Amino acid sequence: MSSLKVAVRVRPFNQREMDMDALPIVQMDGKKTRLHKPKLSSVRESGRDNYHDFTFDHSYWSFDANDGHFASQEQVYLDLGTDVVDSAFEGYNACVFAYGQTGSGKTFTMMGSSDNPGLIPRICHELFARMKVGLESGTGYKTHASYLEIYNERVKDLLGPAAVGHGLRVREHRSLGPYVENLSQHAVNDYEEILECINRGNIQRTTASTNMNDTSSRSHAIFTITFVQAGYMNDMPSETVSKIHLVDLAGSERANATGATGQRLKEGAHINKSLVTLGSVISALADQSNRTELTNKRVLYIPYRDSVLTWLLKDSLGGNSKTIMIAAISPADCNYGETLSTLRYANRAK
Ligand code: ADP
Ligand code: MG
Repeated sequence: MSSLKVAVRVRPFNQREMDMDALPIVQMDGKKTRLHKPKLSSVRESGRDNYHDFTFDHSYWSFDANDGHFASQEQVYLDLGTDVVDSAFEGYNACVFAYGQTGSGKTFTMMGSSDNPGLIPRICHELFARMKVGLESGTGYKTHASYLEIYNERVKDLLGPAAVGHGLRVREHRSLGPYVENLSQHAVNDYEEILECINRGNIQRTTASTNMNDTSSRSHAIFTITFVQAGYMNDMPSETVSKIHLVDLAGSERANATGATGQRLKEGAHINKSLVTLGSVISALADQSNRTELTNKRVLYIPYRDSVLTWLLKDSLGGNSKTIMIAAISPADCNYGETLSTLRYANRAK
């Protein structure tokens, strides 16, 4: 079983794209995604082909419900979210990342809305549904939630006091690995309680961003569920700890700081560094697992420490952990450059 899956999801046209009569340039067929070069492009490229082809584990089409590729929130959950829940119950850690330019559908895919929930609430719902079944057969559970934001390589607790900024530090425990000092952990007993944490964190994230003009597109948000299963194995008491990290990444366009100065340049550099490091870590892990299969077991260097994001997720990336990358894209010709770079990023992660 492959522990890394990469999916791409195209969102419907937005109002701005419709107002400018933007044309669709994305085509999907099964696992294949084809990106056509726009007819009138300001992006100059060499090469004769008029398109770029990519293959991912899943390609999700979203704006023509009559089309066979239409993917609802439920479909995305069934394909990707259930894997996460399965591996967590087996005692493995998991990470799900949403990558893409601002407005491409990252938050829609991860969080969704109250009438059309995304991966995070669906995963939480299923976790508690399964725990209910486990409880009846004598397994005990302890579940905690935490929610943080990384901005300029500094961490803010989205479930802590609202007035506190991005001041938390990441430290490394000798045996337990990297952790955020003073990050609050919230015991949750059922779906309603974890949903309350999610909603509270989301409000902190968006309130702060309206005050500081949209930090949400310039920061990474990590919602983490830690759960302990206590039962018996061969008549001996046993405890299994699993972590699920659900990550809404900063807008990938922010990584391109061309022409920026001052604060914007610094932000862009930090975002670029974390996204590049994440890409390198995932692709190094993918290479390593391919090599292991080829019995060439030389251990590759994995640059976890190069960004706060990857350092914090170190114990949940690689090994037996499950990793899912979802690349969110716009269907429109005016976003060709960003879409191509998103697809290339996702392609490298495979
Ligand atoms: P991001 O988090 O990447 O900046 P959002 O998730 O906020 O982008 O999406 C931008 C807008 O597009 C939102 O209004 C969202 O509801 C809508 N949207 C995104 N993806 C889809 C989709 N697959 N189907 C329907 N609407 C979508
Ligand atoms: Mg968002």
